[in-house]
Amino acid sequence: MKKIIIFIMIILLSGCKKTTLNIKTEIIDKENCLISINYPITKENKLNKEIITKVKKIKKDFLKTKCNLETNTKHELNIDFEYKDINNKYISILIKTYNNELETYFYDKKEKNILNIIDIMTSNDLNTLNNTIKNNTNLEDLNFTIDNEYIYVYKDNYIKKIELDKFDLKIKINKENIIKEKNTYKKVDKIIDYDKKVIALTFDDGPSKYTKKIVDLLNEYDANATFFILGNKVEIYNETLTYLLESGNEIGNHSYNHKWLKNVAKEELLEQITKTQDIIEKNLNYTPTLFRPTYGSVNNLMKENVKLDIVLWNLDTLDWKYKNSKKISENLLKKVKDKDIILMHDTYEYTYNALKIIIPALKEEGYQFITVSELKKLNEIQNKQK
Ligand code: ZN
Repeated sequence: MKKIIIFIMIILLSGCKKTTLNIKTEIIDKENCLISINYPITKENKLNKEIITKVKKIKKDFLKTKCNLETNTKHELNIDFEYKDINNKYISILIKTYNNELETYFYDKKEKNILNIIDIMTSNDLNTLNNTIKNNTNLEDLNFTIDNEYIYVYKDNYIKKIELDKFDLKIKINKENIIKEKNTYKKVDKIIDYDKKVIALTFDDGPSKYTKKIVDLLNEYDANATFFILGNKVEIYNETLTYLLESGNEIGNHSYNHKWLKNVAKEELLEQITKTQDIIEKNLNYTPTLFRPTYGSVNNLMKENVKLDIVLWNLDTLDWKYKNSKKISENLLKKVKDKDIILMHDTYEYTYNALKIIIPALKEEGYQFITVSELKKLNEIQNKQK
């Protein structure tokens, strides 16, 4: 009897392997200011606290100085991140905003402490570094990130990349060449009844820790949706995204870090899109064909240069504004009609809870939940028949 109990325990424990990293996303679309914040939540509380304090401060300052102004110009705050895990011993994080404000964190998982450059470099190293970057300020405040091969020093709007081999270092960093397995997903066959009502649910700004739960729910009702994702989250949510694709859902491009693309130059617009296409292709073996502009802002530059299909929506659930599953579902169920493209966000728990009401209710009304590309195909076929 004892043996059986132990065996079951092991299965339970191994089944509990949780993702230890999540990305917190906050998108606010106000009349005269736009806010997009993405930052990592690790399982290290001390590190999280530091990052959250910093992000909150930047946001508060922005709200106070830019969002209360009665002007016709729109102000934008975009906070993005870079995350690196080194030998499963250290975490290196860069938090950056578009007005060149940045903060770096180098965290020792074992010591549970944030280290500065003096903690990790010998005095010889520091001399070498000072000579390389021509530094004459306080080294303790130096912003840097590290990966398995390089140290990146951020100074006066430039980044200096220096090989770690040049230093002795007080800490040990192993060069490891992690060859990531490319996820391959199996395509699923689907049957769509053209005589029945259809609906295309779309989710922006994800993936997040709620995305997998949403896909589970969709699967339960034989439903599919389209997820317009951010490029900077692809590597972290690789498994979720593979599961999402294998369940027959579609992935669309929603830029790399949710930059407002209406006022940017062509190069930056295309970089945001290409960087996202590339990271999706590299990690998931999948090529999106749809693009949803951030904040729903489309301009001619976009129409002329973006090779992907630009997809907006015709029913906005305003989930981010209502913040209440009952309100979200009531609003949607009142307005929904055949062939609607619906805007939601898979970054909120209340949206997931609203879906638990919406999906069964619409299923009951005879709706089929299809992807945006499937809807486009359906429209093409029916237009030809006319
Ligand atoms: Zn968005």
